[in-house]
Amino acid sequence: MRGQIDRATAPATRSVRIRRLRQSRTPLTVPAVPVHPSATKPTAAARADPTWDPCRWLPTSADELAARGWDYVDVIIISGDAYVDHPAFGTAVIGRLLEREGLRVAIVPQPNWRDDLRDFKKLGTPRLFFGVTAGCMDSMVNRYTAAKRLRSEDAYTPGGEHGFRPDYAVTVYTQILKKLHPDVPVMIGGIEASLRRVTHYDYWSDTIKPSVLVESGADLLVYGMGEQPLSEAIRLLKRGVPFSSLKTIAQTAVQLAPGAPPPKNANWEDHILYSHDECLADRALYAKNFKQIEVESNRVKARRLLQLVGDRLLVINPPYATMSEEQIDSSFDLPYTRLPHPRYRKRGPIPAYEMIKHSINMHRGCFGGCSFCTISAHQGKFVASRSKESILREVESIKQMPDFRGTITDIGGPSANMYKMKGIDQSICDACIRPSCIWPQVCRNLDTDHSPLLDIYKSVRETPGVKHAFVTSGIRYDLFLHEHAKPHAKESHEKYVEELVAHHVSGRLKVAPEHTSDEVLRVMRKPSFKYFYRFKEKFDAAKEKFGKAQFQIIPYFISSHPGSKPQDMADVAVKTKDLGFKLEQVQDFTPTPMTVATEIYATGVHPYSQQPVCVAKTPEEKQEQRSFFFWYKPEMRGALRSTLHRLGMDQTAAKLLGGESAKFEMIGGSDPGFRRDERAGPRAAPRAAKPWFGGRTRR
Ligand code: SF4
Repeated sequence: MRGQIDRATAPATRSVRIRRLRQSRTPLTVPAVPVHPSATKPTAAARADPTWDPCRWLPTSADELAARGWDYVDVIIISGDAYVDHPAFGTAVIGRLLEREGLRVAIVPQPNWRDDLRDFKKLGTPRLFFGVTAGCMDSMVNRYTAAKRLRSEDAYTPGGEHGFRPDYAVTVYTQILKKLHPDVPVMIGGIEASLRRVTHYDYWSDTIKPSVLVESGADLLVYGMGEQPLSEAIRLLKRGVPFSSLKTIAQTAVQLAPGAPPPKNANWEDHILYSHDECLADRALYAKNFKQIEVESNRVKARRLLQLVGDRLLVINPPYATMSEEQIDSSFDLPYTRLPHPRYRKRGPIPAYEMIKHSINMHRGCFGGCSFCTISAHQGKFVASRSKESILREVESIKQMPDFRGTITDIGGPSANMYKMKGIDQSICDACIRPSCIWPQVCRNLDTDHSPLLDIYKSVRETPGVKHAFVTSGIRYDLFLHEHAKPHAKESHEKYVEELVAHHVSGRLKVAPEHTSDEVLRVMRKPSFKYFYRFKEKFDAAKEKFGKAQFQIIPYFISSHPGSKPQDMADVAVKTKDLGFKLEQVQDFTPTPMTVATEIYATGVHPYSQQPVCVAKTPEEKQEQRSFFFWYKPEMRGALRSTLHRLGMDQTAAKLLGGESAKFEMIGGSDPGFRRDERAGPRAAPRAAKPWFGGRTRR
């Protein structure tokens, strides 16, 4: 058996090459539904402790294939993350979905890309295709901080260890596969592929890159959540459609041969984007492209996007409709073990898994449209919610976990309180192109009824065996504080904070005002800070009512977001000090691909208005903004006094830091980190240069 696998990887004779070619072209004959764990031969170790029988997971090695009696696989998934068999981990979701489709699926998690590449050969050649993903995060975000330094840990690797994934993982893995298995199609997906599907700014190399399809050489790109496009691809492959003909599946992108016209499709209108070369030459055209991409990705009926990259046409098909309750349930109800693969048992905990293993995700998608966030670009603006039954089934699964002690750590989602929310009149939503349903005001057509959410909360906390059910996802307080709610929704809003405080706060409740300055909040597409004051009042009143004086709000803030100046950060410091906070949960803005804020960072203009927006770019500017979070630390005081004096804000310095601001120079001295030309205040947007993005020209 092992030999058979090895033969597949050995240098191919002519007859073997022909057989492989035929395999990749022949219609798929679906094998019987894959061998159920109970039907496979347990190993000695598995007999000793059946919990860790590897046959309960999708196979990751030749031995595990052998244990299932498989001498070939249909699909091999290469992943930048460790394999955790849980619905929060995309590789497991896709693997389990393919398994349900009757395919033989194997996973190669975190292959070594620096040795003789044996990991890319060890399972042979898949009959249908390789799937490639960087994992749950973009590999660059995973590895580097906003300051481009290595992160202290890799949250998706056992023990948090570094060195198990390459930079630009999708491209690296795909290029290796194309070299080793040139006849086998490669399908790329996951967040890295999804958010790099079109010409984009890459912060880490400071370049404008073309679609990752072009850089990697992959055959098909799936963007967004993969279940629907993948199911359609499998349906077509089963009918005998060759992989190379999969060009009109929604929510996928392909690159056509030079001169080839876009495939005909009567259902889709086309929108032609500015070409990659035009984007390289002119930041205004690049910014206009982004606006169009965002508009289309937020529409119910989007257009197909076409972009020339060199002499080849990139075709990005429109997304699928939001998943129905039945569809999303069927994904969450797949037979996950909810555990990391046993191969990691001696390598230490996987931090991201430890964080979510006893938590429940109730929905996907977010209609917040925050400028710096990628969720709506990846999961969609419209919310897909699970049924109550599916959620409660997951509670039962969690209860069976050996280390569960009665605490559900989160009943949440991308935002904690968007469950089951949607437009009241769908026909209005069908024509809508707003990037956010709640900014600049909550849409009057949005039903913000929190009753279905409260019903779930009650059912989960009353489940026998559940002692606590906390909400630790971030709450959108503007959703229950807005003025235009319909009476039935208003009633639920009144109850929401009270029920939250009475039953679902572990002690610290996360909310994300992100800034205090309304000017910056407008660029962020976040609600005015006045809503935070109102939320805090309600939270404090509920604390008193339920005798929970020890409860705290933990507000999250971002520094150096486009539009934010040192004066705005002084506003954060003063207002949060007045409210009694010493901030902990803070971060510098990270320009990740495909967000409005990243496009502003890259171009210096807002893609919608084309107006300049100030941007902190140098390490000194960023550090200056960040230092305002820590006004209470003695080591920050001197620099802050100096900065505030330079800005003509001595009164603010006195208020924030106390003492006599006139003596600032004796106390703190001047800050050597500032250049003279920066003392004049906010930096104007940079003028177009060649190249305008400051990096190398890449195609
Ligand atoms: S009409 Fe309102 S609720 Fe519907 S999509 Fe547009 S903003 Fe959202």
